[in-house]
Amino acid sequence: MELARKQSRRGRRSSEGTRKSKTSPRKRWTFDVDSAADEISRILVERWGLDVSGVTPDFIRDIVADIVGGIVENRATKPTIESLVKNLERNKRMVLKAIAAKLVALEDLSVEQLDFILAYAPEIAGKAAPHLYRIAKEKGADHIIEALRVLWIQYGTPTRIECPYCGFNSVTPGLYCMVCGREVRESDLKDKIGFRGLLEMFASTAPLSLVQEVLSSGFVLYDGEIKPPSMRPQSPGAVELFLTSEEKKLVSRIIEERLKGDSRN
Ligand SMILES: [Zn+2]
Repeated sequence: MELARKQSRRGRRSSEGTRKSKTSPRKRWTFDVDSAADEISRILVERWGLDVSGVTPDFIRDIVADIVGGIVENRATKPTIESLVKNLERNKRMVLKAIAAKLVALEDLSVEQLDFILAYAPEIAGKAAPHLYRIAKEKGADHIIEALRVLWIQYGTPTRIECPYCGFNSVTPGLYCMVCGREVRESDLKDKIGFRGLLEMFASTAPLSLVQEVLSSGFVLYDGEIKPPSMRPQSPGAVELFLTSEEKKLVSRIIEERLKGDSRN
């Protein structure tokens, strides 16, 4: 793209006079890349119905100029507008992706533009989920948010812990949500995962020494399941959840019952 952009600048210069392009002395014709890009952009917006997505000829002109500049540079004969349009139509998917990538960088987007980005650049959308989530949330576009959750897992940097507020797998070990940007309260996360039930299950079934370790350290690791603190090296993405006094009582009661059961056997 960068090379093509330079070429389009050269095209711009060559259009001003009659001098041949310095890089291709064999060529006996000049080509005004900028005015061609103007015309082609208008044609493509109309043919592809891009105005429905709030994409204007002005918005895509740079992208079209880059591609046209690259094509013109490699042509032996002067291309027609129609042949350039055909070339771009053959590469429609790639052009739409470039447009979507340019849209992603905007501060604000319409729901139609969000739809467009998800359709033509899902990979970029997944990586940009925090940015697009904020916009979709403001617009109340729930279908976009749902699609972004999946794309974030596919192409973003998901964690194993789902955020109780935005529902993305994006809670870091520091209890920060990478997507909605909120600090996650332990109590909210515990409610979300049904912590009490998980703790009861862990205390009843894990090796007794590990349950005792949890009680004495006062916290567990959680990365989708509950683990004792000594398993930190095997669970790098886990968060630490501290036990309330009531949860400690629950664990200690289960330990007592298990010890009693052992002594009966
Ligand atoms: Zn969140």
